[in-house]
This record gives sequence, structure tokens and C-alpha cells, in this order.
Amino acid sequence: MEPNDVMHRFKLERSGVRGGFVRLESSWAEAIRHAHYPPDPSRQLGEALAASALLAGAIKFEGRLSIHLRDAGPLKLLFAECTSAGALRGIVRTQEAAAASGPGPGFADAQLAITIENDRTQTRYQGLVAVDAGGLATSLEAYFGQSEQLPTRIVLGQHGTRCGGLIVQKVAATGGVGAGDDEDGWDRVGHLLATMSTADLLDLPVETLLYRLFHDERVRLEPGRPLAFACSCSSERVEAMLRLLGREEGEAALDANGLVEVTCEFCGRSYRLDRVDLERVFAGAAVAPAPSTPQ
Ligand SMILES: [Zn+2]
Repeated sequence: MEPNDVMHRFKLERSGVRGGFVRLESSWAEAIRHAHYPPDPSRQLGEALAASALLAGAIKFEGRLSIHLRDAGPLKLLFAECTSAGALRGIVRTQEAAAASGPGPGFADAQLAITIENDRTQTRYQGLVAVDAGGLATSLEAYFGQSEQLPTRIVLGQHGTRCGGLIVQKVAATGGVGAGDDEDGWDRVGHLLATMSTADLLDLPVETLLYRLFHDERVRLEPGRPLAFACSCSSERVEAMLRLLGREEGEAALDANGLVEVTCEFCGRSYRLDRVDLERVFAGAAVAPAPSTPQ
């Protein structure tokens, strides 16, 4: 059976186009397992996760790539990241009033940040783009067009138990016979992509999907790479965060039972520290407490 948490790269040799395909199922279920997101923010998160995997798959790097949208409208924050090893996680936050109702959040003065942290070179790159009315996909297309001068089309979708995405980018002609020498190739690929439904994107086997869309474009599909939900939270990180807040705030967070409980928004894992732990944290000792909900 074809895995449903996968990223494929492909080339359309006739039209000089490279692309990527992403589908998420188990990783998507895991990403929202602990949360109760309303339908529309949930769909936005699914699409953002698919987008982060598409972008991470489109570039060569070792580290993590994140998409971070902040907005003054109903959708306050949308964050998704994917590592070069295929580990995904994300969150969405809505205004309280918007969370109960179901209308699609329009964007009010939203900005999208694309951040690449490269572990190998120890560098961090961030690109910014305004979010347009078309939402995440068209904003990312604009980002590639403006910042990278790379004509790009992106389709994202989430429905039921799956989310997915498809990206195509026009690459410079290499001069080889028949490779990227088709003037109309890019336009043709755009028209073909526009015929794809969300159901096609989420349900068809990738070979079938690409053949159906691009059978005249000489598709070369690379083997799939697995994707999975994974959270990088740890007791060390929770303690580092408490240290940043300071002793006063840390002690103020103690509840009636003398415990500080910190829950990771990404995975729902809960960390509990008592007074003795706090003493150790602020004294800078290195022994870490066990998480209260081991996984
Ligand atoms: Zn976590």
C-alpha cells in the first residue's frame, strides 16, 4: 500500500519544470490529536503543514523550515515547520470570538515569514511576504516570484483525514535537447494544474495524479521520502523557558498543589515541576525531571 505521509519530487522534462508533491495522513492526525481546532483554522493548519513540507522538500538544506503567519484578523497565528528529515509539527491560534463560529478567516494585514534554520552552516534566513486575499498558497507563490525570481504555482488542500500540496517551479533551461526548451511549457503546466481538484490531490495515487495532469510533459518522479509528526519539546527546553521568565514568574505559576504545569502546544505533552524542581532550575542544576505523560 502506498504510504500517505510522503514527499515526492518530480520533473516535467518537456516543459522545464520541477515540482513536489506532499500528502499527510497519520502525521496530520497526530498534529491535531491533542487540539480541538474549529474546521476552518484546522484546514488552514493542514495546508500550512503541507506547504512547509513542500518548501522543505524543494530546497537543499539540513535543519528546519517554518512558515509563520501572524494576523490581526480571526486567525491570530498559524505556524508550521518541517525539518530536512521530514519531521512536521504546527499550531494555529484563533481569536476567541472566531473560534466558536465557522466562517473562513479573511486576512487582515497579515504577514507571512518563511524561516530556514540551517544546522550545517549555523545560519538563519528569513523572508517576509504580505498575505494576499488568496491566502497561503498564492502568498507563497508571490514570495517565490518576488524574492527568488522563481515562477511558482502552489496548490494546497485539506479534507477529512488528509492534507496535501503540489508545487511546480519553472527552472532555467539547461540547453539540452528537448529539456526546458519549450516556450509555452510554463503556461501549459499552469493550465493543467488548474484542472486538478482537491479530491484528486488528496486521494489519487501520486503516479496516477501526475500522469493524469502531465502525461504529455514527460514526468520523471523521484522516490518518495517519508514524513512524520515529531515534536522537539523536552524538559530541558521547558526549563530554559522558565529560566527566561525568571524566578518570580516561575514561582507565581505554582498552583495550589505546589506544581507548575507546562503543556506543549504542538504535541500536548505535559511537563510538571514542583518547588524542588524550580529551585534546581533557577540554581542552574542539570538534572531533568521526567515528563508527567511519557510517550
Ligand atoms: Zn511538544
